[in-house]
Amino acid sequence: MMPSSRLARALTAAGIPFETSALLHDCTTFRIGGPADLLCRPHTQEQLVRTLDIWRTNDGDCPLFILGRGSNVLFPDNGFPGLVICTRDLQEVSLFHAREGTPCLRAGCGAALAALSRRCVAEAPALSGLEFACGIPGTLGGAVVMNAGAHQSEMANVVRESVCIGRTDGRILTLSNAQHGFSYRRSVYQLHPEWVLLNATLELSPSDTVTVRTAMERNLASRRKNQPLEYPSAGSVFRRPAQPDVYVGRLVEDCGLKGFRIGGAEVSEKHAGFIVNRGDATADDVRRLIAHVQEAVLRAYGIELKCEVCIVREDGRTERGE
Ligand SMILES: Cc1cc2nc3c(=O)[nH]c(=O)nc-3n(C[C@H](O)[C@H](O)[C@H](O)COP(=O)(O)OP(=O)(O)OC[C@H]3O[C@@H](n4cnc5c(N)ncnc54)[C@H](O)[C@@H]3O)c2cc1C
Repeated sequence: MMPSSRLARALTAAGIPFETSALLHDCTTFRIGGPADLLCRPHTQEQLVRTLDIWRTNDGDCPLFILGRGSNVLFPDNGFPGLVICTRDLQEVSLFHAREGTPCLRAGCGAALAALSRRCVAEAPALSGLEFACGIPGTLGGAVVMNAGAHQSEMANVVRESVCIGRTDGRILTLSNAQHGFSYRRSVYQLHPEWVLLNATLELSPSDTVTVRTAMERNLASRRKNQPLEYPSAGSVFRRPAQPDVYVGRLVEDCGLKGFRIGGAEVSEKHAGFIVNRGDATADDVRRLIAHVQEAVLRAYGIELKCEVCIVREDGRTERGE
């Protein structure tokens, strides 16, 4: 029996809902990706932990992918040969005050950053700290893993702690802010892909509603103006180069690549750091366009662009620019 068939039987026996052959195209902002052998969307943290237990005890060798809102992932056209656990239903949020009086939001890994930002505006007093994140289309889990950032801030500035489980040993760990090893679009989770983030606590500060809402509206307006939000994408494809004052969008534009297409994948006319899906792009189109841009920039400027997007290979392993 195929590993995923054994797993499917065990999930059924445990009453955990899953789909077979669900299209990953529908679970990512690139709108690219073939079917996952199994796609599971746990509704509670307990169900997520149970699903990982079942995966471990039945078939720890079957490829496993933890998916948030899929806004930083490129899945292959022939899909994923294993189990994808999508966390986006794990959205419980609670507000508490730490001993020193700091307001904190604790949320499940699937909570959308946009929803958490709205919650900050709705509190009385409003909470400041997440203004930078209101337009980032990811989950809390994906954002901590990626140390997502924008508008001169990043997750490193607000994460108090996160709780994760080891997918291979089931051990629960609590990481303090310092233990996340945050740096530009990096966290310790990228060094430990076996850790599945379950929930995280954000440390915020009291503010007033108008100030917080105005900052969020300004950030959203800037995205609408500068980013090609009208097309599916995974945001900025490349990491910011290490050289100071060097911007990916400018390098790509100066290579004359704005609007350059391979198949249905296009270097955005609006922001050359984005690759957009013009309707029928395949993962192969995107990968070839990424390689083309990297080659052109290397040839013209001697700068090696690294991929920020998590690229999933056909065997289920992932690649990310180091
Ligand atoms: C239009 C657009 C604009 C964007 N703007 C920004 C921006 O301004 N700044 C920025 O930093 N990013 C930006 N992004 C990229 C993306 O939104 C962020 O990286 C986001 O944090 C990814 O979250 P996600 O839930 O979609 O993660 P996914 O894409 O689903 O996953 C990303 C990685 O995190 C892992 N992961 C997800 N959840 C967990 C978990 N619970 N435990 C362990 N691993 C997990 C996945 O396995 C994968 O390796 C943008 C993307 C788009 C499409």
